[in-house]
Amino acid sequence: MMKNYAQPLENLIKELSKLPGIGGKSAQRLAFHILSLDEDRVIALADSIRDAKEKMKYCPCCGNLTDKDICDICADETRDKRVICVVESPRDVYAMERIREYKGTYHVLHGAISPMEGIGPDDINLKSLIVRLQQGDAEEVILATNPTIEGEATAMYIARLIKPAGIRASRIAHGIPVGGDLEYADEVTLLKAMEGRRDL
Ligand SMILES: [Zn+2]
Repeated sequence: MMKNYAQPLENLIKELSKLPGIGGKSAQRLAFHILSLDEDRVIALADSIRDAKEKMKYCPCCGNLTDKDICDICADETRDKRVICVVESPRDVYAMERIREYKGTYHVLHGAISPMEGIGPDDINLKSLIVRLQQGDAEEVILATNPTIEGEATAMYIARLIKPAGIRASRIAHGIPVGGDLEYADEVTLLKAMEGRRDL
């Protein structure tokens, strides 16, 4: 065990170690690296974090991250508003956009239903999807939640909710490894998963 660091360094290590995938060792390495940088670069780093947090917000229509009033995808007249691809996180939108074949729109849930963790339908961005379906002319909802227990449960819940309204509910195929995240799937796997989707 190392001796205690001076408080400012200790604080930096502590904050960095709270980030996902950053353990204590990595946090220390990053903190020492940051302190070795020129002041200009450190300020640029700190400013970019504050700037992104201040300017990025959730699109009121689909829940995707944007720095505009409505995100670029919702605002794009060439996107097919009749098809909505439902995903768990904004990262999944970026993943799906990489395959370039998809011309519909998205809806970001910001999570998945998980009774084990006490996350119900009201705790995710689901109400705004229902409003969209009631107001818009959606014909198909592609459920592209992750292939986890929570993701499957969420897909089934939404499918049951929308089918009585005569809207097609489909589920992407299982090209993606079970328990894996959509965002880590490569383009070919994602494209196959989309093409192989089946009705729920
Ligand atoms: Zn949007």
